[in-house]
Amino acid sequence: MAIESSCDETSVAVIENGEKILSNIVASQINSHKRFGGVVPEVASRHHVEQITICIEEALSEAQVTGNDLRAVAVTYGPGLVGALLIGLSAAKAFAWANGLPLIPVNHMAGHIYAARLVEPLEFPLMALLVSGGHTELVYMAEDGSFEIIGETRDDAAGEAYDKVGRVLGLSYPSGKEIDHLAHQGEDTYNFPRAMIKEDNFDFSFSGLKSAFINLTHNAEQRGEALDHNNLAASFQASVVEVLVTKTIKACKAYPVKQLIVAGGVAANQGLREKMSATIQIELPDLKLIVPPLRLCGDNAAMIGAAAHVELQKHHLAGMSLNANPSLAFQHI
Ligand code: ATP
Ligand code: MG
Ligand code: FE
Repeated sequence: MAIESSCDETSVAVIENGEKILSNIVASQINSHKRFGGVVPEVASRHHVEQITICIEEALSEAQVTGNDLRAVAVTYGPGLVGALLIGLSAAKAFAWANGLPLIPVNHMAGHIYAARLVEPLEFPLMALLVSGGHTELVYMAEDGSFEIIGETRDDAAGEAYDKVGRVLGLSYPSGKEIDHLAHQGEDTYNFPRAMIKEDNFDFSFSGLKSAFINLTHNAEQRGEALDHNNLAASFQASVVEVLVTKTIKACKAYPVKQLIVAGGVAANQGLREKMSATIQIELPDLKLIVPPLRLCGDNAAMIGAAAHVELQKHHLAGMSLNANPSLAFQHI
């Protein structure tokens, strides 16, 4: 059984051998945070407290198992909001202790990558483009459980840029999905910058794009000009997607990879999925692209169960003193 509570989704899943989903219950708190325009940590913790036992019961009942059928309890211990993490961690410890099961500590970002294993067997070496609300990273995995960040954002994460730009357009939080939808009805007419696209590294930057977007809308407002929101969304998305795809393809050419995984909440983006797949077909036809289905891109416990399987095979278990680590970095499993 796996538990995830790092941000604003309380989720519990039952997974077989790190590959097969028996249940994956996700309780989202989005409606409680919308009116604040972002996740309020204290509100998130309180919701996790209310939801966690209900989610555990539902996950076990949907999978038709009891504590006796389980091999271990896996839990996200970072990165994320400390109060939110502690709720999942306390529940996992209590359940593990009561049922005499080992406790497996899981990194949330490793979870996002291993969501791909719920779709296809992984082949190493592989490259992962991790794009989420808090992270934008290119991660090279030479083998199972090994993570090397070869490039990352110098400022905002891709999802964060989507959410900030959405706020300017008056969209509710989180606005990635809505901008993606608007973008498909518009065209790239505003020519936003493609930050760092030609630089000789695998890093990203999205704060300049965000400023360009804000300045454009602000100036138009002052002049009383109306802007086409569909074209604005399409132009913003074209910039984000072009930079993500160009740098990822460059990384896949520089490293001897067999597969590319696109993971994290922003991997749900239709524009990114389409352009990545089309570019790979032309430039790297032998590379296998794995993008998890939408329900496994956002935060969920099934992905934590998938990553936990690697830890279990390598006997990386935690004791009851396991603590939350809000800024946890990748560690070799
Ligand atoms: P992290 O995983 O870095 O700790 P997080 O868990 O909050 O952060 P996720 O849940 O993985 O982030 O992803 C949420 C982000 O994904 C939000 O910023 C949201 O706007 C973005 N997102 C969701 N769907 C789409 C989409 N279709 N297009 C672009 N962005 C999207
Ligand atoms: Mg979330
Ligand atoms: Fe996440």
